[in-house]
Amino acid sequence: MADYILALDQGTTSSRAILFNRQGQIIRIAQQEFTQIYPEAGWVEHDAEEIWTTQLNCAREAIAAAGISASDIAAIGITNQRETTVVWDRATGKPIHNAIVWQCRRTASICDTLKKEKFDRVIRKSTGLVTDAYFSGTKVAWLLDKVKGARKRAEAGELAFGTIDTWLIYRLTGGKSHVTDVSNASRTLLYNIRKERWDKTILERLQIPESILPTVKSSSEVYAETSPELFGAPIPIGGIAGDQQAALFGQACFKPGMMKNTYGTGCFLLMNTGEQATTSKTGLLTTIAWRTGGQTEYALEGSVFIAGAAIQWLRDGLQIIASAPETEALATAVSDNHGVYFVPAFVGLGAPYWDQDARGAITGLTRGVTRSHIARAALEAMAYQTRDVVECMQKDSGIKARELRVDGGATRNDFLCQFQADLLGIPVVRPVITETTALGAAYLAGLSVSFWKNEKEIASQWQVEKRFEPQMKRGERDRLYNGWLDAVSRVRSRK
Ligand code: ADP
Repeated sequence: MADYILALDQGTTSSRAILFNRQGQIIRIAQQEFTQIYPEAGWVEHDAEEIWTTQLNCAREAIAAAGISASDIAAIGITNQRETTVVWDRATGKPIHNAIVWQCRRTASICDTLKKEKFDRVIRKSTGLVTDAYFSGTKVAWLLDKVKGARKRAEAGELAFGTIDTWLIYRLTGGKSHVTDVSNASRTLLYNIRKERWDKTILERLQIPESILPTVKSSSEVYAETSPELFGAPIPIGGIAGDQQAALFGQACFKPGMMKNTYGTGCFLLMNTGEQATTSKTGLLTTIAWRTGGQTEYALEGSVFIAGAAIQWLRDGLQIIASAPETEALATAVSDNHGVYFVPAFVGLGAPYWDQDARGAITGLTRGVTRSHIARAALEAMAYQTRDVVECMQKDSGIKARELRVDGGATRNDFLCQFQADLLGIPVVRPVITETTALGAAYLAGLSVSFWKNEKEIASQWQVEKRFEPQMKRGERDRLYNGWLDAVSRVRSRK
């Protein structure tokens, strides 16, 4: 009997393969970094071939290191950096250009044009997204425009487009399968998330022929098997989800109102809104969380641009700390923030302010302020910004959140987790397995082959490592948060 699920976690800076057992525990991890290509200021590319080879190598390495064979693996689940765009030749399987990475700003001017035409309203209504260079649609349009002969070849049906999940599956199946799942499709800027089909009006406006697009499938079903020569025997591919949606699944946030926040360089917050695609009035994204068992579920998504990055800045820019973990001891060495607020608007402010010209500030400085207060303020800033987004989500969805499940590098900081619980007035829960992205992909794949029975079984398997209960009095919480709002108002470019 096959006792393992293999998750392929194709991220922005590295490819990883993680083997899970039936209890959802990690057996092996293999990881390889790959090249970041910066052809011009603000442009970011990856070599799609390198993504494929590093991903394949990791998978083989994890299998070999665990001393198992392909037949011991019940299914493969794939999760990926979202929105990154590859276009390749169907006949040769060769990309026509480097992959354009989600971070790449090269299509900002296309987005400006669309906004001038008010076409952003059409996009928002259909896709749930804002018109931004971040998403795949304008990247595909750019490739068809700029690569010689590409549009003609696309029209002749010779080219294929895919996000990274699609690209990997194409290669894993020797070119037999050209598919994606609803969660990835919902990040392309080309997919109507309510009707669940490619949007012809948007495709026409961007001059993207429909023949280039993958078939959209659910997030958990057997799409295909891997070519036998890759791992010695074919393995079913049974799960696909974009990284943030996979993390929501890996945190077992299966019910409306359940949410997770990932604290890394920035923060990514997702709230499950169930069968309801909630339109945001606060500027959040509406996205498909996943489709399993014929049922599509939606999520609201909000992000914080600068979270752990502010800690990095204390270390590398100001050089007042030696390492990120040191902030915990510094923060707890003082009894409070001493009135100091750090608004890390290094690249502007996101939800709910949407002010790209705002810049950062540290407010409330007096002679009594030490680096402890500054470190504390930087940690607290992650929590304040998260509360800003949670408030938006609650307003948009009409759902009151009951707890926040957390993961990501900065959640190793207990002070941060406790302060977050205090500030939200709800428990903050840190799971045993913090590799939630890979775990989510594994769960989706496992469900497709009955490795796990249902979401209920998965939810019972998901384990809490530590639960942080709110301890702060309401008055204190409000006083602190009002102080934050006041600090934010000082950095706004327009009020
Ligand atoms: P990413 O995936 O975005 O690279 P990670 O999940 O690896 O991020 O988390 C790294 C981020 O978390 C860094 O920005 C770092 O400053 C921050 N970080 C790591 N450990 C701690 C800690 N103990 N306390 C506070 N911040 C931390």
